[in-house]
Amino acid sequence: MKTKAHSPPAPDLDARPLQHGGEPCLASVYSRLAKIGFTRKFIKSTILPSWVCDQAEKDPDVFPELALFLGKALGISSRSLADPTEPLVFCNPSPARYKPATGTVLAEERIAPAKSVNQQIALEVEACLPKDPAFVASELDPTQIRNYILRSSKKLDFKSLLAYCWHLGIVVLPAVDLHSNSALKFTGMITWQKDRPFIFLRGNAKDTSWGLFVLAHELAHLALEHVKQGDAAFIEESCDLNSISDQEVAANEWALSLILGENKNAMSDFIRMTPRINAKQLAARAIKEQSLIGVDAGFLVLKSAWERSLNAVDQATKNAAWPTARAALKEPSITDEHTKPLMLDALRIKGDLSVLSAEERELVVRALGLDK
Ligand SMILES: [Zn+2]
Repeated sequence: MKTKAHSPPAPDLDARPLQHGGEPCLASVYSRLAKIGFTRKFIKSTILPSWVCDQAEKDPDVFPELALFLGKALGISSRSLADPTEPLVFCNPSPARYKPATGTVLAEERIAPAKSVNQQIALEVEACLPKDPAFVASELDPTQIRNYILRSSKKLDFKSLLAYCWHLGIVVLPAVDLHSNSALKFTGMITWQKDRPFIFLRGNAKDTSWGLFVLAHELAHLALEHVKQGDAAFIEESCDLNSISDQEVAANEWALSLILGENKNAMSDFIRMTPRINAKQLAARAIKEQSLIGVDAGFLVLKSAWERSLNAVDQATKNAAWPTARAALKEPSITDEHTKPLMLDALRIKGDLSVLSAEERELVVRALGLDK
């Protein structure tokens, strides 16, 4: 594909025969893509190269090139994109293994666009990375990981666990935001490119406190081999500490062992004996525990809210648990950052995007938000 500015359209563009029943080609593609979860706004703002102007979108001569590019970027057969009589076909049709949030039912087609576009980004990013030793899941032990991290960090938090994942050769990236209500916004997704696992996390909120648990939970699914190389993508709509599914219980236990080590009851006694705690007191106590046991204070605040909510002796205490925790996370002493810039910084350090073509590079930059 050309990277230079698109040449001006011929003066008689509108008089040219339009393909496919009179509809402008790309307009027809937008409408078909929207039906499966890729909105026009997403395609224009995030996927198409910046040189594609409104006039280029209407130019039938440019269309085949754009269909090829869109097909590669979205993981959709370019042939099906170019033929409006054919249904759109994903290039990697293997179904995802997905875990819907408790109490919800998820239609397979709702998950397909998020899965496909993130897998395509993983494909591009993999080409930018050095060839690390192969990842071996059986070598992952929560206690050893915790001890390893605490040898060089004052506390186990999202940032230090993120660095450890990259050290193991696991790529952790923010999930591509599809700007769509119909496409699934998942909490975590694990997929593979060659022998390298990729973890995609939703990263648009100020959320390192909860992100620590989500990352540890996804790492647990890899360590426990719930998802292995060659498996279909594994996608979780949410991570639920109250889940009763065998794999989720095991992943939660593994994650809590990694984060808390021997300190599983950190904050528990204090919370039980101080039912009327306010946000300031909660934040102060979490900071004190952080310095004692080396666990991120924000995570301890959230753990305390979960336990207060679970064990509350009256409705008022139960109702206050999460609002108090959310207020405590805003206390200046607590560090609750956005996870997305941290994930992107790690990619900037490790990856060499210059190996990609200009169009591939622009796609990765825009889709992940590296230009923001
Ligand atoms: Zn899970």
